Amino acid sequence: MKIRCTCGFVIRDNTENLPYKAYILPDQDIDVACVGEEPSPAQLRLWDHTAGQLTMLWQCEVCGRIYFDGPSGKVFGFKPESTPAPTNLLRSVWGEGWAGLVRGDWDTRSDGVGHGELTWTEDAGEGHFEEFEDVDRLKQRYDEVFADLHRRSLVRDALLLIDGTTVHTWPGADQLQ
Ligand SMILES: [Zn+2]
Repeated sequence: MKIRCTCGFVIRDNTENLPYKAYILPDQDIDVACVGEEPSPAQLRLWDHTAGQLTMLWQCEVCGRIYFDGPSGKVFGFKPESTPAPTNLLRSVWGEGWAGLVRGDWDTRSDGVGHGELTWTEDAGEGHFEEFEDVDRLKQRYDEVFADLHRRSLVRDALLLIDGTTVHTWPGADQLQ
């Protein structure tokens, strides 16, 4: 989806882990939501009930306006009273140290022609996407991206699949499938 901000900037929501998007966790629910070692039955019930129902909000990275998704899909905008307003209010609590995902995937079709994709996030949430027609080039690029992010402690987990077979994985990636 896209939100055209009053300032003219277009806020895009077409990928995951956006640094300018958040979900509202009501104060009435936060005690239940704070997960300990093992989720309690109440926590599981909350997540079952609220998955996909938490109110979303987005912040314009240019002017700082905040948009809430309201009932019936209508979006409501709120303008900061003072300017300049901070425009990174919704980013991860980890800030610049936010660690993202690296995903590489190659599929060989029945006619022998293959296609690969590589996605990753860095710079506190900016998404990257590259496509490949050569499996060795995909592997090489995956290795480069992973090594760079790993060196900077900016990768949470990584996974490279070639025709459905795990070629490389880094902690926990399989569990997140
Ligand atoms: Zn704006």
